[in-house]
Amino acid sequence: MKAVMLVMDGVGDRRCASLSGQTPLEAAQAETFNELAKQGECGIMDVISPGLPNGSDTGHLALLGYNPFEVYTGRGPFEAFGAGIQLEENDIAFRCNFATVNADGMIIDRRAGRISTEEAAALGKAIEDITLKEFPDVEIIFKPTVEHRGVLVLSGKGLSDKVSDVDPHAVGVYYQPPKPLERGPKARKTARILELFLERAREVLNNHPLNQERIARGLNPANALLTRGGGHPPKLKPFHEKFGLRGAIIAGGALYKGVCRAAGFDVIEVPGATGTVNTDLNAKMEAAINALKTYDFVLVHVKGTDSASHDKDPAKKIRMIRNTSEAFSKVVEYAATENIYIVIASDHSTPVEIGEHRGDPVPVTIVGPDVRRDYVERFDEISCARGGLGRIRGIDLMPILCNYLGKMSMFGE
Ligand SMILES: [Zn+2]
Repeated sequence: MKAVMLVMDGVGDRRCASLSGQTPLEAAQAETFNELAKQGECGIMDVISPGLPNGSDTGHLALLGYNPFEVYTGRGPFEAFGAGIQLEENDIAFRCNFATVNADGMIIDRRAGRISTEEAAALGKAIEDITLKEFPDVEIIFKPTVEHRGVLVLSGKGLSDKVSDVDPHAVGVYYQPPKPLERGPKARKTARILELFLERAREVLNNHPLNQERIARGLNPANALLTRGGGHPPKLKPFHEKFGLRGAIIAGGALYKGVCRAAGFDVIEVPGATGTVNTDLNAKMEAAINALKTYDFVLVHVKGTDSASHDKDPAKKIRMIRNTSEAFSKVVEYAATENIYIVIASDHSTPVEIGEHRGDPVPVTIVGPDVRRDYVERFDEISCARGGLGRIRGIDLMPILCNYLGKMSMFGE
């Protein structure tokens, strides 16, 4: 028995004044999703716990059946896995931003004018060569990913993830070097390495011709790196050992690939899967159908619903829901012929009128040949609340699905 899970990032929402009191899912009237709700067992899901807003990293851990309170070690390691960096147990991975720091040391742009992926790659090349002769036992890996984003990995002995974020999440404040957050030599050493590396990086970046050129064009130079979310790689029992399912993920964004890769999934790269609203949904769905021929569990992640929510653009969110629903119909057709179970879920709510993550439950539907259907007829936050699944937690979803798939072992005799 196989299953496909569609995760629409941040799709959960609240009543919107601009939509006459409807949620974007209600307003979208997405045909395929509503049809699935009709056929399936519906509910609402507190992805982590009631009322707790969460990020996509902890959200996806929960969706995959891992308890984030036990396994989560920070976002950095997932970004690194997503960027294809293999992490060793003692490594520490950080998320990284190219940023603009002015002559007074004030951070004036956390995204360096959202420099292009190509520019970041060129700057990354120059940073790659930085070595610290003070710490010959530690390897430093920097890899730019998309636009201003990147990952930094410190690899070696005697390191600690207890160092402060350099990224203040604000502009107009002064650049602060990393500080140890615990006593002892490990955190001190790590903070010092990071401080030296970031200093060297600023020198290299300040002198880079690409930045001189940006300044000449009136653009913010990418003259500093800001780190945050440092952590050791999480210890996850591989998904296939946990549930007996071989998993694959289709996603545009590095984070989602990273969480799944950390859980032992294969990543299926789809050209045109951008991790934005302009993603090639049809290509992703085609890839999902193909993957279902080889894998037992395929997760398809769509980011655009969350991006539209952060942009506070209800019309864009509705459009993204409708487009995803339409593209997903091909997967539904294929699943029906092969008796493949379908789950529609989300990793958190991002109310579009607020533009930030909130701790509201998300709607969820499970469809399959023998699933207990209920009387819900529409896939939205309000309708699904009356469904047979009731109100579950994110971590309950995989066991409920695996019970249908015949993959749960018995408790007791
Ligand atoms: Zn988000």
